[in-house]
Amino acid sequence: MPSKLRKLYRCDVLPSPMNHRKHARVLALLQAWRRVAVLRGREQRQIFYQRGTLDARLKTRTGYDQVGGAFGQMVRHQVVGVLDSFLSNRQNEFRDLVNRSSLESSVKHQLHFINRWRAWQTLSVPLTMRDGVVIPDEVRRLARIMFRAVMKRHRQPALHRLNMVVDQRAVSVSPAHTSSHFRMWARLSTLDKGKRVNLPLQTYPRFTTRAGARALTVQVNQRSDGSFGVGMFTDVTDVFAASRAAYQPRCEALALDLGLNTLFATDQGDLIGRQWRSKLEYYDRRITKLAAYLQKRGLKPNRHARYRKYVAAMRGWLESEVGRCLNRLVAVRAPAELVIERLDFRAPGLSRRLNRLLSNMGRGFIEAKLKDLEERFGITCRKVIAAYSSQADSACGYVDKKNRTKQAKFKCLWCGHFQHADVNAARNLIQRRSLGDTGTSRASRDALLDALVSQHVARYNRPRGRSADPRLSNPYFRSWTASVRSIEAYV
Ligand SMILES: [Zn+2]
Repeated sequence: MPSKLRKLYRCDVLPSPMNHRKHARVLALLQAWRRVAVLRGREQRQIFYQRGTLDARLKTRTGYDQVGGAFGQMVRHQVVGVLDSFLSNRQNEFRDLVNRSSLESSVKHQLHFINRWRAWQTLSVPLTMRDGVVIPDEVRRLARIMFRAVMKRHRQPALHRLNMVVDQRAVSVSPAHTSSHFRMWARLSTLDKGKRVNLPLQTYPRFTTRAGARALTVQVNQRSDGSFGVGMFTDVTDVFAASRAAYQPRCEALALDLGLNTLFATDQGDLIGRQWRSKLEYYDRRITKLAAYLQKRGLKPNRHARYRKYVAAMRGWLESEVGRCLNRLVAVRAPAELVIERLDFRAPGLSRRLNRLLSNMGRGFIEAKLKDLEERFGITCRKVIAAYSSQADSACGYVDKKNRTKQAKFKCLWCGHFQHADVNAARNLIQRRSLGDTGTSRASRDALLDALVSQHVARYNRPRGRSADPRLSNPYFRSWTASVRSIEAYV
């Protein structure tokens, strides 16, 4: 459940096509903004290592000569926000690291206390717990070592690539009265004192119909093709609180299988996103062909505008497709909980390049949409182990590689149960709800297979005879087959 105090925002980025002169002025501001952000970041990091905190109110004239006072404050505010959320993510990792460790519980308690106060670095400042115990130096040193190990796994936030978060002191957004093409204008201050630049904003239905209070702060983004967009924030806290209260689940849980031919199959038999494979192949052809052409000429595809345009188009399509499909499933089934496998987007038959793009983007889009559904309707999400879900029969539990003859067809060799392969997989997932997320390690996969085999053998212990029993030639049942043979030898 999202906390009551936290505000929820949604950001819609509106394209802002502009002429060269405007573009140059916005770009000059962005470049100065980023330079100052890097300087401010250095300053904050120094304070953090000395005092263990960030200082949002730090009064220095860093960057004053480059962007002036008001922009300088906005940059500082943004930089502190970025670093703070970076640190709170590291804080969560530190907590998990302590919990997973085999340390004594009193030491764990002290480490959690250090973590709570972000006092990983400041060993010279004594730290007294609520019960009066001063945390000993060796625990403080241990905390520092662990914190450094956590930090090492991540790159520092890229302050030199920040987009500008501009508040109402330097920007105002108003509806356009004169122009027919653009529905809104953003008037943005620039580095030239007193001279604002008018940015046209293209709106679209998802933005114009979004309920909630529009914030006065906007984000000015530069996209990969160099053009600018303006991110409009909407405060959806109250709207979402109301929609969560109104949401009436009609089923306890709905399992989703991520498919290659259909995007989502459910345990209820829904197949949603059927065009998805052919559309992927279409993008694959275009992207692969262009990449091959560019590489032949010794050019890096990522630096090429048309290549980036194709990838951006696929990104946009994938994001809206994931959103559309999940919205539809929620509308049709109204589950209280969604059960999914660990997300791994990979489609055999498509190029390696596209698979890489897919696994980078797809997971992010689904995670983001699931979070959206939780905030919007309170629908929780449970991840379960997906191993063998495409080989096991959801009816009798028989697991066999040969159960899945064709991509879309599942036919159980033991009981003859016939079903769409992805629907069968989703039904397996829903049966695994009680197992929880046991990970994808070899050990947990092996344990799951052992359980599937022994359950089946316990239910159907008598062999059917050489030709009628598929288990006798199934490598998963090798040890059972051996035991049956030895029994038969005695009889
Ligand atoms: Zn079966």
